[in-house]
Amino acid sequence: MNFKELYKNFTLSFEVFPPKTEEGKTSLFTELEKLKEYNPAFVSVTYGAGGSTREKTLDLALSIRDTLSIRPLVHFTCVGSSRSEIAQYLAKVKELGLTDILALRGDPPQGEESFTPPADGFSYANDLVSFISSVNGFSIAVAGYPEGHPESASFDADVKNLKKKIDAGASLVITQLFFNPDDYFRLRDTLSAMGSTVPVIPGIMPITSAGQIDRFIKKCGAKIPAHVQQKLDRCVNDAKIVEVGIDHAISMCRSLLDGGVQGFHMYPLNKSVVISRVLDAVGVPGSGRS
Ligand code: FAD
Repeated sequence: MNFKELYKNFTLSFEVFPPKTEEGKTSLFTELEKLKEYNPAFVSVTYGAGGSTREKTLDLALSIRDTLSIRPLVHFTCVGSSRSEIAQYLAKVKELGLTDILALRGDPPQGEESFTPPADGFSYANDLVSFISSVNGFSIAVAGYPEGHPESASFDADVKNLKKKIDAGASLVITQLFFNPDDYFRLRDTLSAMGSTVPVIPGIMPITSAGQIDRFIKKCGAKIPAHVQQKLDRCVNDAKIVEVGIDHAISMCRSLLDGGVQGFHMYPLNKSVVISRVLDAVGVPGSGRS
């Protein structure tokens, strides 16, 4: 996929994770059929922490391509793979006709404080991007952090590291979830001031439950604005939380559109209903649904 070409028009994409069971897979495809109505340009498929879903990622990506005729983008991390294993994996990915990769470092395995690079593997995503770039034929996306990556010393230090990934060959940035559009605009505009021209696409995850959002936030360090937190604190159950989450996601998407975003990358968590409500309210530019 030529990302620069693609994002000349507003572009919608979704992210899914490989279900653990066959029932989960059947349900995911029912949900994706519904989301397909919004005409996504691609669906990205996550790669389990520690490489735990390596085969499942590829299997799901192929099913999405072959069953739904939607282009898949496969996530891949540096975790647990040496350079030669990565080279073999890339050869397999290419043989399967998959050309779009989100190249990530990955998180430290559960219970470990910091990321330890595998023997003869890579320490940072920019090294992985360089390696993939040296094999012709892949389009490479990378992760960006509107509030800075939780391990980084500062936002500025993190953006410099993000720029290294772009300089190494990435042509698309997809962001971590965030709840304040200003954080996204700061990232996009800082990168642009550094000379980057690649699309920076906001990752949108509506809040749908207290427990779930706590887990995500603990991991990625995103902050919920005080005015949203106050509304969440007044919710007596998850059904009310979903409504606050949808309202905030709609308001964020509208601000992002006003600020000229080139697309949305939405995190449906393998379910369509909340995302559909957000997209129906906001409209998808250029899709006949705006
Ligand atoms: P990097 O870009 O390598 O950054 C990691 C840290 O190192 C940052 O603090 C950065 O500032 C610093 N750094 C980077 N380069 C250098 C350098 N050259 N020198 C010094 N410091 C440097 N995880 C999964 O396991 N599977 C997934 O499928 C997955 N999908 C994701 C999708 C998106 C859109 C996002 C935003 C994240 C995803 N993650 C996934 C999580 C991701 O793996 C973690 O956030 C991880 O901690 C960092 O990955 P990265 O590629 O951003 O790392």
